[in-house]
Amino acid sequence: MSDFLPYAYLNGQFVPFSEAKISVATHALHYGTAALGGLRGLPNPANANEILLFRLEDHCQRLSRSAYYLGYELPMAQIKTTIIKWVQKNRPTVPFYIRPLVYTSGLGIAPRLHDVEKDFLIYGMPLGDYLSAEGVTCRISSWQRQCDRSFPLRGKLTTSYIVSALAKTEAVASGFDEAILLNTQGKVCEASGMNLFLVRDGQLITPSVDQDILEGITRRSVIELAQAAGVTVLERAVDRTELLIADEVFLTGTAARIVPVRRIETYTLPAQRPLTRQLQQQLQTIVTGRDPNYRHWLDIVPIA
Ligand code: PMP
Repeated sequence: MSDFLPYAYLNGQFVPFSEAKISVATHALHYGTAALGGLRGLPNPANANEILLFRLEDHCQRLSRSAYYLGYELPMAQIKTTIIKWVQKNRPTVPFYIRPLVYTSGLGIAPRLHDVEKDFLIYGMPLGDYLSAEGVTCRISSWQRQCDRSFPLRGKLTTSYIVSALAKTEAVASGFDEAILLNTQGKVCEASGMNLFLVRDGQLITPSVDQDILEGITRRSVIELAQAAGVTVLERAVDRTELLIADEVFLTGTAARIVPVRRIETYTLPAQRPLTRQLQQQLQTIVTGRDPNYRHWLDIVPIA
């Protein structure tokens, strides 16, 4: 399989990926007036004629709300139907990642959201599961995550990713795998493209939605799983110094699911990570369709 799945969706049509082109004058390219989604699917291990999509409606809902920040009325149901058709058109045979994007597609200049055309596109690529057994090293970034007063952080707006990119590159350039960003209040926020959890004395703690985080769908899933297993989950502001005495720290996001953190700056976390491991295994069982209790988190798309 090539680097991308064969068909993209652009201007209301399915076209071969290589023909899905946009103009150099595209408004969103210049002003960051776009919002993205990112979700995963895989062939059902129990039936190759079916594709399993994880939390499709939640992803479509978030994209629809992100579009709303751009002044673009794009109902959740429309996104969902189009993604299902896109999957049926592509008939993926390996695990894959779907990237929908809403953007100002007009060719005019001047940043604005009114009087400019908008469009919705989709493309995708194969993306295998990667379970990082050893975990990642993190530095505390010198970059802060933007604050809600200056940016609609609940939407996955493309513009916010400049800070993620700066933080990630700074982390890698200084010998770490990943960055942990604080918010403008100096509280722990999230990684460059993942939410953050820590375990202290058996309790699971994660920055609450008023901490300028992206409201991650994996984050919400992990909270529900932990609560169902009887674990106390605290959503609250998290101090930087708590990270340095945590029993376990892990990151969550669609692409990598749950990634253990093995070191933060000079603090090496304990090698035993019982809760991280438990949640990793449970999520893996769910996304591959093997847990009947969480069947409602999967959409099954027939491709035969
Ligand atoms: N924060 C940011 C900045 C992200 O880009 C992502 C990935 N979408 C996440 C958190 C995790 O969100 P989700 O679990 O919905 O993928």
